[in-house]
Amino acid sequence: MFNLFKEPPSAPRNAISNVNETSVFLEWTVPEETGGRKDLNYNILCRKITLAWNKYEECGSQVRYLPQQKGLRNNSIMVADLLAHTNYTFVVEAVNGVSELTALQHQSVSLNVTTNQAAPSPISAVRKGKTAKNSISVSWQEPDRPNGIILEYEIKYFEKDQETSYTIIKSKETEIIADGLKPSAVYVFLIRARTSAGYGGFSRRFEFETSPFLAASSDQSQAPIIAVSFIVGVILLALVTGFLLSGRRCGYSKAKQDPDEEKMHFHNGHIKFSGIRTYIDPHTYEDPNQAVHEFAKEIDVSCITIERVIGAGEFGEVCSGPLKLPGKREMLVAIKTLKAGYTEKQRREFLGEASIMGQFDHPNIIHLEGVVTKSKPVMIITEYMENGSLDTFLKKNDGQFTVIQLVGMLRGIASGMRYLSDMGYVHRDLAARNILVNGNLVCKVSDFGLSRVLEDDPEAAYTTRGGKIPIRWTAPEAISFRKFTSASDVWSYGIVMWEVMSYGERPYWEMSNQDVIKAVEESYRLPGPMDCPAALYQLMMDCWQKDRNSRPKFEEIVSLLDKLIRNPSSLKTLINSSKRVSNLLVEYGTIESNVYRSVGEWLEAIKMGRYTELFMESGYTTVEVVTQMTSDDLRRVGVNLAGHQKKIISSIQEMRVQMMNGQVQI
Ligand code: AMP
Repeated sequence: MFNLFKEPPSAPRNAISNVNETSVFLEWTVPEETGGRKDLNYNILCRKITLAWNKYEECGSQVRYLPQQKGLRNNSIMVADLLAHTNYTFVVEAVNGVSELTALQHQSVSLNVTTNQAAPSPISAVRKGKTAKNSISVSWQEPDRPNGIILEYEIKYFEKDQETSYTIIKSKETEIIADGLKPSAVYVFLIRARTSAGYGGFSRRFEFETSPFLAASSDQSQAPIIAVSFIVGVILLALVTGFLLSGRRCGYSKAKQDPDEEKMHFHNGHIKFSGIRTYIDPHTYEDPNQAVHEFAKEIDVSCITIERVIGAGEFGEVCSGPLKLPGKREMLVAIKTLKAGYTEKQRREFLGEASIMGQFDHPNIIHLEGVVTKSKPVMIITEYMENGSLDTFLKKNDGQFTVIQLVGMLRGIASGMRYLSDMGYVHRDLAARNILVNGNLVCKVSDFGLSRVLEDDPEAAYTTRGGKIPIRWTAPEAISFRKFTSASDVWSYGIVMWEVMSYGERPYWEMSNQDVIKAVEESYRLPGPMDCPAALYQLMMDCWQKDRNSRPKFEEIVSLLDKLIRNPSSLKTLINSSKRVSNLLVEYGTIESNVYRSVGEWLEAIKMGRYTELFMESGYTTVEVVTQMTSDDLRRVGVNLAGHQKKIISSIQEMRVQMMNGQVQI
């Protein structure tokens, strides 16, 4: 009987961590000795390290453990809601039913982790203050987890059900007065905070109503509405005129406001000013030197020591060495130099990259420290990325990473691209060779250029229309008619996913550019890389949809990858090896769904069987075709009731998610 108790387990092995902003994914393998029992489980202890790594503090109850902190049966855990930029130690203890009965200490493995910069958490409490017929005062509390210093808040508001015409106010305070409103009208408010890591999520919608208008004459009651429309019209006109006169692609216009507030009006989406700061094309500056000095800090050359050459850029050598700015800690930087004998045009183009990079501030975008323009050689100084460019790094470490590590890298790249597309910047040359990797495996998007973007890329080839384009990474519409958009960047992102999952294999191998163009045009696509999770291959395929509007947005890509990281079992289903013919392209649209065997069965299951005939008549005869449907398609089929449309669309979305998560065999 006593023998049934057996021994406590030995320590877990091969523990690794993967940090994603303020979440950490921990993974390990089972202990060598399980103690001869089947009830092995794990406990996680979390400690925050303060005061230069030598004082511990328990992590506290705000930290979330997914699925749980104690009695874990699987070999991994996601720890979320940690503090940004903080050092933690995680101890993974292996225990079984006899661990508590013995005097021996629990066997464990520990990992030290530093969390990254993260955007603030959403604001949860928003209150209405003084209300008048044309204004509402609104206040709120700092987010629960600011994750840094809050630089400003963005307040978006609009009249209820009039979402296309909204106003955005930026404020450094936690209170604003929204004025120019209609009396007795309900307004919806959404607020988000920004730190140097970017914007956090918007708060939920808060609805507040203005006071009634008590004036007698009905003519008068129209007056404020006309006045508001007039003011909005004038502001819009001023914005458009300013926009045209300045010749800039975009920018904010400050309305007369509290000095700490900036206000922008948006109407019907005709003029798109995105919520976050918009990228300004340095070409729009008459004097390129002005652009450089607006966006990049001049560094005194005496602060830099060039130590070694690490690469070759189009304009000169790329070196590394320490940068010591007065009052700051010394740091290792990369130094791009402009070789002697350059023309004025080359100098402009070289520094153009700094003017672009200097506008970005995101953990997954290479960070510009500054420029040296007052002495020669002219230099661009950026953060140093220990592991160099992603394609070479992956080739050097073939097969060395866990799927979660690879997905973590892809998540970082998608997050950087989401930021760029929010800023209105289209990269045009997204490829693994243009991603840099630091010592913590954080991937950052780099290589920002002006016209030269594609000139210095050895992969870029001339097209029949004269442009130079990296064919294998570029969406068909960008190759055919130079339609470069964030959606064409999403296509390239799909190719980067393929490069990452195949450890730096060359897309389309040794096929010629002409053959690649032809194959893609004929709906052929790259096959899934070896051992690639089905959910990731589905995402790549979605990025390679011919219709650019059907491709996922970077926002959706980031949130899908987050879901996969949180639920690693969704990555266990690999692409069906019988469908993976190495080095042969696959035809798009041969992916089948096996959730439902027929459209009829699916519609019956969601109690919409009455539409089966209409679906058949309109050509939606297979579940696979149905999963591509949009609301417009549904209306065309003849599903006119809003409730039914909603039900069918949500079921379609569910099927798509299942397909993406690999629950559906491809
Ligand atoms: P680029 O001109 O940006 O394509 O850089 C040429 C090469 O220099 C890259 O392929 C990298 O190997 C290296 N390099 C450029 N920037 C950095 C950096 N910030 N940190 C480390 N290596 C870099």
